[in-house]
Amino acid sequence: MNKKQKRMLARILLAAALLLALAFAPVEGWPRFFLYLVPYLVIGYDILRKAARGIRNRQVFDENFLMAVATVGAIALALYEGSGDYTEAVAVMLFYQVGEWFQSYAVGKSRRNISQLMDIRPDYANVERDGRLERVDPDEVAVGAVIVVQPGEKVPIDGVVTEGSSALNTAALTGESLPRDVGVGDEVVSGCVNMTGVLKLRTTREFGESTVSKILDLVENASSRKSRSEDFISRFARVYTPAVCGAALALAVLPPLAGALGLWPDAGWETWAYRALTFLVASCPCALVISIPLSFFAGIGGASRAGVLVKGSNYLEALSRTRIVVFDKTGTLTRGVFEVRGIHHSRMKDETLLEYAALAESASSHPIAQSIRRAYGREPDRARVTDIRETGGSGVTATVDGHTVAAGNDRLMERLGVEYIPCRGAGTVVHMAVDGQYAGHILIADVVKPTSKAAIRALKEAGVRETVMLTGDARAVADRVAAELGVDEVHSQLLPADKVEQVERLLAEKPAGARLAFVGDGINDAPVLSRADIGIAMGAMGSDAAIEAADVVLMDDDPLKIAKAIRISRKCLSIVYQNIVFAIGVKLACLVLVALGLANMWLAIFADVGVMILAVLNAIRALFAGRG
Ligand code: ADP
Ligand code: MG
Repeated sequence: MNKKQKRMLARILLAAALLLALAFAPVEGWPRFFLYLVPYLVIGYDILRKAARGIRNRQVFDENFLMAVATVGAIALALYEGSGDYTEAVAVMLFYQVGEWFQSYAVGKSRRNISQLMDIRPDYANVERDGRLERVDPDEVAVGAVIVVQPGEKVPIDGVVTEGSSALNTAALTGESLPRDVGVGDEVVSGCVNMTGVLKLRTTREFGESTVSKILDLVENASSRKSRSEDFISRFARVYTPAVCGAALALAVLPPLAGALGLWPDAGWETWAYRALTFLVASCPCALVISIPLSFFAGIGGASRAGVLVKGSNYLEALSRTRIVVFDKTGTLTRGVFEVRGIHHSRMKDETLLEYAALAESASSHPIAQSIRRAYGREPDRARVTDIRETGGSGVTATVDGHTVAAGNDRLMERLGVEYIPCRGAGTVVHMAVDGQYAGHILIADVVKPTSKAAIRALKEAGVRETVMLTGDARAVADRVAAELGVDEVHSQLLPADKVEQVERLLAEKPAGARLAFVGDGINDAPVLSRADIGIAMGAMGSDAAIEAADVVLMDDDPLKIAKAIRISRKCLSIVYQNIVFAIGVKLACLVLVALGLANMWLAIFADVGVMILAVLNAIRALFAGRG
């Protein structure tokens, strides 16, 4: 409970005690009125003030206005009738405030819950100076500095292990409970918790650019992107509140008028004025207004618990309607960790061919380039390479030691007019041309991620109608992977622009209301990520551009999480709809009862607070949607 909530609770208790005491106080007339005014103002002064401010700013119709008019009206009526029955007005205000208090408590609690789950913000980094560890602000650590992470501490900044080995707990990032073992040379992302050994890391990013900072940014900004359901609520409120105010006015004026004209059995204008005031109390749309954003917020929290970052409630809503999922192959369905399997038809020594390839690829971040550099085993000497040009989906050309070198697929060779020898081996082929002459090829192979097949099956079970794989890789490789995984449709040998075209075709063909998700790692597919209804990026391996462009980020690159995200979104949306139907249903029933004179103000406020509490509790269920 924060200070504000504590103060509110004190006011509630004080007002309740005063009200109870007054029930036994034998005072009548004006003294009675002034005595009741005390608990009324204790509990309601802020509402009255907000209502007055609303009227001054010409934003009249909100729940403060409803409560103020209803309770002031009820008091005035009691005064006029001389009944001295002020209890109702005070109690209505009291219950309304109980509801408000509960709501702020629940919202605060679920927010805290979520930030606890996301409790990954590191407070310091250890830097070694003169043999002693010093704690510094992670913001002050430069790229390339060496930091020390001790067991039990959070990794504050992304880096590479230079000394030591340990197991890392990545649960806060990925929802994965199995620890990950790391040793010298391994990349470590910030936000993990070091469990067993002391690690020395050389940082590869600044704190502000590190994984933790990015994730926190995403989560903190997620709720600012509103979904259609939330928009619906604000549009609804804009029409609803004036409408009920009008209806209440009509209720107060028309029946007595009709009664006076003899068209209607006259029940007296006080009766109708009271009904109109009760109508106002009953109409308060609090449950709806609060529970829907809270449901989405909880849904986003539930997803992040499962290792899926959703950047806004609009994407959660879109996810729930996903019918088509389009995958990139390399790095998404396959691990994207290629291995050189062979060097064939080389016109020079195999090592020389590999050296040329590694030099030409020295600037590329493509998984293929990384594997070639790895196979080469040394740091390529960049001084020997100039004119590097990379063509997405084809390969690279460069000048190495004065020779023009090209490394890439069939398409690249065809474009350069180089006759190549096709490869019969299974895998991706990197053809090499040196000085315009074919120089042989390097066969590399990628492996399918262990969960890819299950991921495709899970998507089908989650109601996805169509799965499509797009790849720039050769037909043979693409078809083999697609068959192995059970993907419905496959298109191979695509340039990055072709991928956009394919996705646009699928977008045009899909049925109305269905949503298309594209899943990629951002290498050669960032434009598609932003073009799709929902762009899903691999967070661990994916490029920064992908994580920027995407709407949803899978923290551990596990394609199985896509189906999970869809299930979480469905659960969240169904909670939202339950709340909408429930709140509006009870509200309408109440309004009808009130208009017919079958319900009084007590019932109205109980119904309102009751519905709100149930709706909020229901909303919080979305936080646990990712379980199991
Ligand atoms: P995917 O769509 O499967 O993710 P890409 O579009 O990234 O694949 O690449 C498609 C193809 O283009 C690769 O299979 C490879 O043949 C060729 N290619 C792309 N970049 C490079 C590179 N840097 N070096 C060699 N070949 C490359
Ligand atoms: Mg790719």
